[in-house]
Amino acid sequence: MTKKVRHVLGISGGKDSAALAMYMKMHHPEIDMEYYFSDTGKELPETYELIAELESFLGKKIKKLEANHSHKNPFDHYLDIYNGFLPSSMARWCTQKLKLEPFERWIGEDLAISYVGIRDDEDREGYVSTKSNIQSVFPFRKHIWSMEILHKVLHNSNREKIAELYEKHGEKNLIARFIEIIDEPQSPKYLFSQKMNDLLQLSISTFNRVVFYFLKNENYPVSHLNEYSLLENEDSVDINKVFQLFKENGVKVPGYYDEVEFEVNGQKGKYNRSRSGCFFCFYQRKIEWIWLYERHPELFRKAQEYEKDGYSWMDNETLEEIIQPERMTQIKLDYIATLQKKLNSKNKSNKLIDILADENEVCANCFI
Ligand code: SF4
Repeated sequence: MTKKVRHVLGISGGKDSAALAMYMKMHHPEIDMEYYFSDTGKELPETYELIAELESFLGKKIKKLEANHSHKNPFDHYLDIYNGFLPSSMARWCTQKLKLEPFERWIGEDLAISYVGIRDDEDREGYVSTKSNIQSVFPFRKHIWSMEILHKVLHNSNREKIAELYEKHGEKNLIARFIEIIDEPQSPKYLFSQKMNDLLQLSISTFNRVVFYFLKNENYPVSHLNEYSLLENEDSVDINKVFQLFKENGVKVPGYYDEVEFEVNGQKGKYNRSRSGCFFCFYQRKIEWIWLYERHPELFRKAQEYEKDGYSWMDNETLEEIIQPERMTQIKLDYIATLQKKLNSKNKSNKLIDILADENEVCANCFI
Protein backbone atom coordinates (compact mmCIF):
# COMPACT_ATOMS: atom_id res chain seq x y z
CA MET A 1 0.00 0.00 0.00
CA THR A 2 1.30 3.49 -0.85
CA LYS A 3 1.84 5.59 2.26
CA LYS A 4 1.70 9.37 2.43
CA VAL A 5 5.14 10.94 2.14
CA ARG A 6 5.81 14.48 3.37
CA HIS A 7 8.14 16.83 1.50
CA VAL A 8 9.97 19.24 3.81
CA LEU A 9 12.55 21.98 3.31
CA GLY A 10 14.41 23.68 6.15
CA ILE A 11 15.25 27.38 5.83
CA SER A 12 18.43 28.09 7.79
CA GLY A 13 18.71 31.80 7.00
CA GLY A 14 21.57 31.04 4.60
CA LYS A 15 21.49 31.74 0.88
CA ASP A 16 21.45 28.13 -0.37
CA SER A 17 18.36 26.87 1.46
CA ALA A 18 16.54 30.09 0.52
CA ALA A 19 17.56 29.62 -3.12
CA LEU A 20 16.37 26.00 -2.99
CA ALA A 21 12.97 27.10 -1.69
CA MET A 22 12.65 29.52 -4.63
CA TYR A 23 13.90 26.89 -7.05
CA MET A 24 11.39 24.26 -5.87
CA LYS A 25 8.50 26.69 -6.13
CA MET A 26 9.54 27.70 -9.65
CA HIS A 27 10.45 24.29 -11.06
CA HIS A 28 8.44 21.84 -8.97
CA PRO A 29 5.22 23.53 -7.86
CA GLU A 30 3.56 20.10 -8.06
CA ILE A 31 5.50 19.00 -4.96
CA ASP A 32 3.51 19.99 -1.89
CA MET A 33 6.40 21.37 0.12
CA GLU A 34 6.30 22.17 3.84
CA TYR A 35 8.86 24.81 4.82
CA TYR A 36 10.27 25.10 8.33
CA PHE A 37 12.77 27.14 10.32
CA SER A 38 14.39 26.01 13.57
CA ASP A 39 14.75 29.25 15.49
CA THR A 40 17.55 29.24 18.05
CA GLY A 41 16.33 32.59 19.40
CA LYS A 42 19.77 34.01 18.65
CA GLU A 43 19.68 34.54 14.92
CA LEU A 44 20.88 37.66 13.12
CA PRO A 45 18.14 40.22 12.31
CA GLU A 46 18.87 39.66 8.60
CA THR A 47 17.72 36.05 8.98
CA TYR A 48 14.27 37.09 10.20
CA GLU A 49 14.05 39.58 7.30
CA LEU A 50 14.82 36.77 4.86
CA ILE A 51 12.18 34.50 6.39
CA ALA A 52 9.56 37.25 5.99
CA GLU A 53 10.58 37.90 2.35
CA LEU A 54 10.48 34.20 1.53
CA GLU A 55 7.05 33.74 3.08
CA SER A 56 5.71 36.42 0.82
CA PHE A 57 7.48 34.96 -2.25
CA LEU A 58 6.38 31.39 -1.51
CA GLY A 59 2.86 32.40 -0.54
CA LYS A 60 3.14 30.02 2.41
CA LYS A 61 3.98 30.23 6.09
CA ILE A 62 7.38 28.90 7.09
CA LYS A 63 6.70 26.79 10.16
CA LYS A 64 8.73 27.90 13.17
CA LEU A 65 9.85 24.84 15.10
CA GLU A 66 9.95 25.22 18.87
CA ALA A 67 12.92 23.68 20.64
CA ASN A 68 11.34 24.14 24.08
CA HIS A 69 8.25 25.51 25.74
CA SER A 70 9.80 27.40 28.63
CA HIS A 71 9.55 31.19 29.02
CA LYS A 72 13.23 31.46 28.06
CA ASN A 73 14.36 31.53 24.47
CA PRO A 74 15.63 28.17 23.15
CA PHE A 75 19.39 28.78 23.40
CA ASP A 76 19.26 30.18 26.94
CA HIS A 77 16.95 27.41 28.07
CA TYR A 78 19.45 24.73 27.04
CA LEU A 79 22.45 26.74 28.21
CA ASP A 80 20.96 26.54 31.73
CA ILE A 81 20.55 22.78 31.37
CA TYR A 82 24.21 22.55 30.27
CA ASN A 83 25.25 24.65 33.30
CA GLY A 84 26.59 27.54 31.23
CA PHE A 85 28.86 25.29 29.17
CA LEU A 86 29.08 27.12 25.83
CA PRO A 87 28.81 24.93 22.74
CA SER A 88 31.86 24.47 20.53
CA SER A 89 32.81 22.51 17.42
CA MET A 90 33.82 19.65 19.75
CA ALA A 91 30.63 19.80 21.86
CA ARG A 92 27.93 21.01 19.54
CA TRP A 93 24.91 20.50 21.77
CA CYS A 94 23.23 23.54 20.19
CA THR A 95 22.73 21.85 16.81
CA GLN A 96 21.41 18.71 18.46
CA LYS A 97 19.00 20.45 20.82
CA LEU A 98 17.97 23.46 18.75
CA LYS A 99 17.96 22.08 15.21
CA LEU A 100 17.92 18.29 14.93
CA GLU A 101 15.66 17.29 17.80
CA PRO A 102 12.87 19.82 17.07
CA PHE A 103 12.97 18.75 13.42
CA GLU A 104 12.78 15.03 14.17
CA ARG A 105 10.00 15.66 16.71
CA TRP A 106 8.01 17.58 14.11
CA ILE A 107 8.33 14.73 11.61
CA GLY A 108 7.58 12.07 14.22
CA GLU A 109 6.98 8.70 12.58
CA ASP A 110 5.79 10.17 9.25
CA LEU A 111 7.68 9.34 6.09
CA ALA A 112 9.49 12.47 4.93
CA ILE A 113 11.79 13.56 2.14
CA SER A 114 13.98 16.41 3.32
CA TYR A 115 15.26 18.76 0.59
CA VAL A 116 18.79 20.04 1.23
CA GLY A 117 20.44 22.94 -0.65
CA ILE A 118 23.95 21.58 -1.00
CA ARG A 119 25.19 22.89 -4.34
CA ASP A 120 26.71 21.02 -7.22
CA ASP A 121 30.02 22.87 -6.74
CA GLU A 122 30.34 21.68 -3.13
CA ASP A 123 31.80 18.45 -1.93
CA ARG A 124 29.91 17.70 1.27
CA GLU A 125 26.92 15.81 2.44
CA GLY A 126 25.09 17.85 5.09
CA TYR A 127 22.52 16.43 7.44
CA VAL A 128 21.37 12.92 6.77
CA SER A 129 18.98 11.73 9.45
CA THR A 130 19.73 8.54 11.27
CA LYS A 131 15.97 7.93 11.38
CA SER A 132 14.92 5.62 8.57
CA ASN A 133 11.64 7.49 7.99
CA ILE A 134 13.52 10.66 6.95
CA GLN A 135 15.49 10.74 3.71
CA SER A 136 17.54 13.65 2.36
CA VAL A 137 17.64 14.57 -1.32
CA PHE A 138 19.80 17.22 -2.98
CA PRO A 139 18.03 18.88 -5.95
CA PHE A 140 20.95 21.24 -6.74
CA ARG A 141 23.26 18.32 -7.51
CA LYS A 142 23.19 16.29 -10.71
CA HIS A 143 22.54 13.14 -8.73
CA ILE A 144 19.99 13.94 -6.08
CA TRP A 145 20.78 11.09 -3.68
CA SER A 146 22.72 10.76 -0.45
CA MET A 147 26.16 9.16 -0.59
CA GLU A 148 24.91 6.19 1.42
CA ILE A 149 22.37 5.37 -1.31
CA LEU A 150 24.85 5.93 -4.13
CA HIS A 151 27.38 3.59 -2.57
CA LYS A 152 24.69 0.97 -2.17
CA VAL A 153 23.49 1.30 -5.78
CA LEU A 154 26.97 1.19 -7.31
CA HIS A 155 28.24 -1.56 -5.05
CA ASN A 156 29.85 -4.34 -7.08
CA SER A 157 27.37 -6.86 -5.70
CA ASN A 158 24.48 -4.92 -7.31
CA ARG A 159 25.89 -4.79 -10.84
CA GLU A 160 23.46 -7.33 -12.25
CA LYS A 161 20.40 -5.65 -10.73
CA ILE A 162 21.49 -2.20 -11.94
CA ALA A 163 22.25 -3.50 -15.45
CA GLU A 164 18.69 -4.89 -15.61
CA LEU A 165 17.25 -1.53 -14.54
CA TYR A 166 19.31 0.29 -17.16
CA GLU A 167 18.07 -2.15 -19.81
CA LYS A 168 14.51 -1.44 -18.75
CA HIS A 169 14.69 2.34 -18.21
CA GLY A 170 17.68 3.53 -20.27
CA GLU A 171 17.69 5.14 -23.72
CA LYS A 172 17.90 2.35 -26.30
CA ASN A 173 20.82 3.90 -28.21
CA LEU A 174 22.89 4.13 -25.00
CA ILE A 175 22.18 0.71 -23.48
CA ALA A 176 25.42 -0.90 -24.68
CA ARG A 177 27.52 1.86 -23.11
CA PHE A 178 25.48 1.84 -19.86
CA ILE A 179 26.03 -1.90 -19.52
CA GLU A 180 29.73 -1.58 -20.28
CA ILE A 181 30.10 0.95 -17.43
CA ILE A 182 27.99 -1.09 -14.99
CA ASP A 183 29.87 -4.30 -15.82
CA GLU A 184 33.21 -2.84 -14.91
CA PRO A 185 33.66 -3.41 -11.16
CA GLN A 186 34.79 -0.64 -8.87
CA SER A 187 38.50 -1.00 -8.10
CA PRO A 188 41.51 1.21 -7.40
CA LYS A 189 41.67 1.60 -11.19
CA TYR A 190 37.98 2.40 -11.56
CA LEU A 191 36.84 4.40 -8.61
CA PHE A 192 33.29 4.92 -7.37
CA SER A 193 33.38 8.62 -8.32
CA GLN A 194 34.61 7.83 -11.81
CA LYS A 195 31.91 5.25 -12.38
CA MET A 196 29.21 7.61 -11.17
CA ASN A 197 30.48 10.45 -13.36
CA ASP A 198 30.58 8.18 -16.41
CA LEU A 199 26.94 7.26 -15.85
CA LEU A 200 25.87 10.84 -15.17
CA GLN A 201 27.64 12.07 -18.28
CA LEU A 202 25.59 9.70 -20.40
CA SER A 203 22.28 10.72 -18.82
CA ILE A 204 21.47 12.38 -15.52
CA SER A 205 17.74 11.63 -15.57
CA THR A 206 18.28 7.96 -16.45
CA PHE A 207 20.74 7.61 -13.59
CA ASN A 208 18.26 9.16 -11.15
CA ARG A 209 15.43 7.00 -12.51
CA VAL A 210 17.48 3.80 -12.14
CA VAL A 211 18.28 4.69 -8.52
CA PHE A 212 14.59 5.43 -7.90
CA TYR A 213 13.53 2.00 -9.20
CA PHE A 214 16.35 0.30 -7.30
CA LEU A 215 15.00 1.89 -4.11
CA LYS A 216 11.54 0.47 -4.79
CA ASN A 217 12.72 -2.74 -3.15
CA GLU A 218 14.28 -0.94 -0.18
CA ASN A 219 12.73 0.81 2.76
CA TYR A 220 13.18 4.53 2.06
CA PRO A 221 10.51 7.24 1.93
CA VAL A 222 10.96 7.54 -1.88
CA SER A 223 10.23 3.80 -2.13
CA HIS A 224 6.62 4.77 -1.35
CA LEU A 225 6.24 7.26 -4.20
CA ASN A 226 4.57 6.12 -7.40
CA GLU A 227 6.30 8.81 -9.40
CA TYR A 228 8.76 11.56 -8.66
CA SER A 229 9.07 14.60 -10.92
CA LEU A 230 12.50 15.48 -9.53
CA LEU A 231 13.93 12.52 -11.44
CA GLU A 232 13.55 14.35 -14.74
CA ASN A 233 15.51 17.32 -13.49
CA GLU A 234 18.83 17.67 -15.30
CA ASP A 235 19.81 20.99 -13.70
CA SER A 236 22.78 21.55 -11.49
CA VAL A 237 23.03 24.68 -9.38
CA ASP A 238 26.31 26.35 -8.37
CA ILE A 239 27.03 29.49 -6.37
CA ASN A 240 26.46 31.83 -9.32
CA LYS A 241 23.07 30.31 -10.03
CA VAL A 242 22.15 30.69 -6.36
CA PHE A 243 22.66 34.46 -6.59
CA GLN A 244 20.83 34.48 -9.91
CA LEU A 245 17.80 32.87 -8.22
CA PHE A 246 17.67 35.74 -5.71
CA LYS A 247 17.93 38.31 -8.50
CA GLU A 248 15.39 36.69 -10.81
CA ASN A 249 12.84 36.41 -8.02
CA GLY A 250 13.39 39.84 -6.51
CA VAL A 251 14.30 38.41 -3.10
CA LYS A 252 16.97 40.38 -1.24
CA VAL A 253 20.20 38.51 -0.48
CA PRO A 254 20.62 38.60 3.34
CA GLY A 255 22.47 41.78 4.27
CA TYR A 256 25.26 39.99 6.17
CA TYR A 257 26.66 38.77 2.84
CA ASP A 258 27.19 42.39 1.67
CA GLU A 259 30.87 43.13 1.31
CA VAL A 260 31.80 46.15 3.42
CA GLU A 261 35.04 48.07 2.88
CA PHE A 262 37.41 48.87 5.72
CA GLU A 263 40.84 50.46 5.96
CA VAL A 264 43.60 49.59 8.37
CA ASN A 265 47.13 51.06 8.45
CA GLY A 266 46.57 52.44 4.93
CA GLN A 267 45.54 49.04 3.56
CA LYS A 268 42.06 48.43 2.22
CA GLY A 269 40.03 45.30 2.74
CA LYS A 270 36.46 44.05 2.52
CA TYR A 271 34.65 41.90 5.02
CA ASN A 272 31.26 40.36 5.56
CA ARG A 273 29.74 37.52 7.46
CA SER A 274 29.98 34.43 5.33
CA ARG A 275 27.21 32.37 6.98
CA SER A 276 23.88 32.55 8.67
CA GLY A 277 23.26 31.05 12.12
CA CYS A 278 23.45 32.41 15.66
CA PHE A 279 25.13 35.80 15.97
CA PHE A 280 27.63 34.31 18.44
CA CYS A 281 28.32 31.14 16.49
CA PHE A 282 31.69 29.66 17.48
CA TYR A 283 32.35 28.78 13.83
CA GLN A 284 32.94 32.43 13.03
CA ARG A 285 36.37 33.49 11.95
CA LYS A 286 38.05 36.23 13.95
CA ILE A 287 37.39 38.75 11.19
CA GLU A 288 33.70 37.88 11.42
CA TRP A 289 33.74 38.62 15.13
CA ILE A 290 35.25 42.01 14.24
CA TRP A 291 32.52 42.45 11.63
CA LEU A 292 29.94 41.72 14.35
CA TYR A 293 31.62 44.20 16.69
CA GLU A 294 31.62 46.95 14.06
CA ARG A 295 28.30 46.24 12.30
CA HIS A 296 26.16 44.95 15.21
CA PRO A 297 27.87 46.24 18.37
CA GLU A 298 24.80 45.46 20.51
CA LEU A 299 24.90 41.78 19.45
CA PHE A 300 28.64 41.65 20.08
CA ARG A 301 28.03 42.91 23.62
CA LYS A 302 25.37 40.25 24.10
CA ALA A 303 27.81 37.57 22.90
CA GLN A 304 30.33 38.93 25.39
CA GLU A 305 27.86 38.52 28.25
CA TYR A 306 27.96 34.75 27.72
CA GLU A 307 31.71 34.67 28.35
CA LYS A 308 31.88 34.06 32.08
CA ASP A 309 32.93 31.42 34.61
CA GLY A 310 35.93 30.60 32.42
CA TYR A 311 33.86 29.87 29.30
CA SER A 312 34.64 31.65 26.03
CA TRP A 313 33.53 31.34 22.41
CA MET A 314 37.07 30.82 21.12
CA ASP A 315 39.72 28.51 22.50
CA ASN A 316 42.59 30.89 22.73
CA GLU A 317 41.20 34.36 23.43
CA THR A 318 38.15 36.15 24.71
CA LEU A 319 35.95 38.64 22.90
CA GLU A 320 37.28 41.38 25.19
CA GLU A 321 40.80 40.55 24.02
CA ILE A 322 40.07 40.56 20.29
CA ILE A 323 38.58 44.06 20.35
CA GLN A 324 41.67 45.66 21.85
CA PRO A 325 42.87 48.17 19.19
CA GLU A 326 46.21 46.48 18.50
CA ARG A 327 44.67 43.04 18.28
CA MET A 328 41.91 44.25 15.98
CA THR A 329 44.45 45.86 13.66
CA GLN A 330 46.43 42.63 13.59
CA ILE A 331 43.35 40.52 12.81
CA LYS A 332 42.41 42.82 9.95
CA LEU A 333 45.93 42.84 8.51
CA ASP A 334 46.20 39.03 8.75
CA TYR A 335 42.84 38.71 7.07
CA ILE A 336 43.82 41.03 4.18
CA ALA A 337 46.98 38.97 3.64
CA THR A 338 45.08 35.65 3.74
CA LEU A 339 42.47 36.94 1.34
CA GLN A 340 45.13 38.16 -1.08
CA LYS A 341 46.79 34.74 -1.02
CA LYS A 342 43.47 33.05 -1.73
CA LEU A 343 42.62 35.50 -4.50
CA ASN A 344 45.96 34.75 -6.14
CA SER A 345 45.46 31.01 -5.93
CA LYS A 346 41.79 30.84 -6.92
CA ASN A 347 40.27 32.14 -10.08
CA LYS A 348 36.73 30.82 -10.02
CA SER A 349 35.18 33.83 -8.28
CA ASN A 350 36.11 36.95 -6.42
CA LYS A 351 33.17 36.87 -4.00
CA LEU A 352 34.29 36.77 -0.38
CA ILE A 353 31.88 34.01 0.59
CA ASP A 354 33.17 31.91 -2.27
CA ILE A 355 36.82 32.54 -1.50
CA LEU A 356 36.41 31.73 2.18
CA ALA A 357 33.77 29.04 1.86
CA ASP A 358 36.13 26.11 2.05
CA GLU A 359 38.15 27.38 5.00
CA ASN A 360 36.34 25.39 7.66
CA GLU A 361 34.13 22.34 7.78
CA VAL A 362 31.05 23.79 9.41
CA CYS A 363 27.59 22.88 10.51
CA ALA A 364 25.49 22.26 7.42
CA ASN A 365 22.23 22.39 9.44
CA CYS A 366 22.73 25.98 10.43
CA PHE A 367 24.36 27.48 7.36
CA ILE A 368 23.10 26.00 4.11
S1 SF4 B 1 24.67 28.57 14.31
FE1 SF4 B 1 26.44 27.87 15.48
S2 SF4 B 1 25.90 28.34 17.63
FE2 SF4 B 1 23.98 28.39 16.45
S3 SF4 B 1 23.12 26.34 16.60
FE3 SF4 B 1 24.36 26.38 14.74
S4 SF4 B 1 26.41 25.64 15.34
FE4 SF4 B 1 25.26 26.21 17.21
